[in-house]
Amino acid sequence: MAGKKKSSDGESRSCTFCGRSRGSLFAGPPGVYICDECVELYNEVLSRDLQKQPAAVPQDPFPREKLPTPQEIKARLDEYVIAQERPKKLISVAVYNHYKRLAFQASEASSDDPSGVELEKSNILLIGPTGSGKTLIARTLARILDVPFAIGDATTLTEAGYVGEDVENLLLKLLHATDWDIARAQQGIIYIDEIDKIGRTTQNVSITRDVSGEGVQQALLKMLEGTVSNVPPQGGRKHPEQQYIPIDTTNILFICGGTFVGLEEIVARRAGSSFIGFGHPGRAEQGAEDEKSALLEQVEAQDLVEYGLIPEFIGRLPVSGVLKPLSEDDLVRIMLEPKNAIVKQYQKIFEMENCELKFTDGALHELAKIAIKKATGVRAVRSIIEDVMIDILYDLPSTTTPRRFTLNEKVIRKEAAPKIDPIKSKKKAAG
Ligand code: ADP
Repeated sequence: MAGKKKSSDGESRSCTFCGRSRGSLFAGPPGVYICDECVELYNEVLSRDLQKQPAAVPQDPFPREKLPTPQEIKARLDEYVIAQERPKKLISVAVYNHYKRLAFQASEASSDDPSGVELEKSNILLIGPTGSGKTLIARTLARILDVPFAIGDATTLTEAGYVGEDVENLLLKLLHATDWDIARAQQGIIYIDEIDKIGRTTQNVSITRDVSGEGVQQALLKMLEGTVSNVPPQGGRKHPEQQYIPIDTTNILFICGGTFVGLEEIVARRAGSSFIGFGHPGRAEQGAEDEKSALLEQVEAQDLVEYGLIPEFIGRLPVSGVLKPLSEDDLVRIMLEPKNAIVKQYQKIFEMENCELKFTDGALHELAKIAIKKATGVRAVRSIIEDVMIDILYDLPSTTTPRRFTLNEKVIRKEAAPKIDPIKSKKKAAG
């Protein structure tokens, strides 16, 4: 091809889409370019598609018979998320209503006699300590409902004009998750973590971010309410000459999560009781945790305002669930019960080697105790088990005799070796 552009390193450059090398070329991943004409064409096609399928009349993502009931949603959540009964129930109802509302809107739009009643979207706020399952719940919901899912962190977001990410980047992640299927992205779920860190009174804001966090709340508020956001397809900062992809957020379900450290004290003050649990000498830790959770369950909008969230923002998160810290028993259940439970995974590895793996009750509780002592809680379980298993897994494939390995608490504490017994061949089970 004549007249290919040359980059500074001498590489020839042409548009990956039309092959031409005139006009402005925009670089993508290494070796990929798009010319201004293709960008324009692409934009036209996109806006035509959007007009054909206006976002205000969304496609029903669930033909009515396919939308799972709240009970079915909760039952599916139970397969992956242990404990947290109350928030799981609340969320199952909220999510059901959300998608029912979409279906209802679609049928109203096509009917001659719309009632005029508008069902408002119910975004969800999850309050709970790190590692209690907030992200897991949001992610599992998206999987159950087969809708696209994206995760963002509120602390990386900034008001336009400051160093950091624009809120629109959250939508870009959703677009990526759908492989640029705009209609599907507009019915997805976005989980925003660390929402408590954008309070007006938050101490640990960076100096490059807007000092109050209020600007970010305002920007997020618009998306939570429902707006058409212009998403820069390459992410990063918005640029006046860039072409944008318009995304309607009206039907996107936002789930916001945060630890809200100290919120229980605000609730206690307002409720006229005093919270004496945390750090109080001589008080059992579990009792303090229970007291804290009980207070958080009474949280009201005004407490969140005092915490630093703006009232309009809270108004857009009408459903709130409080997750409790996981107890030792919960951790043991997490190791055993979910579909992809860590014990099941290791047992599968042993099965493939024609062997059996058994953890005694004592071993599981010992693992849970060690994990609770670590700041990362449940996330620590995997690394503790891995550390114990490494020597066993190192030797395992060297011997072909079928054996059963039994691990008790002493093995977990690395004070003893596992008990090994010969067994009958497990070949069939391994298949
Ligand atoms: P959070 O968002 O509350 O900080 P996550 O949902 O990211 O916590 O939890 C981290 C990991 O811990 C999850 O991926 C999951 O493996 C495990 N986990 C946490 N809570 C639960 C739970 N209630 N049930 C099952 N696993 C859990």
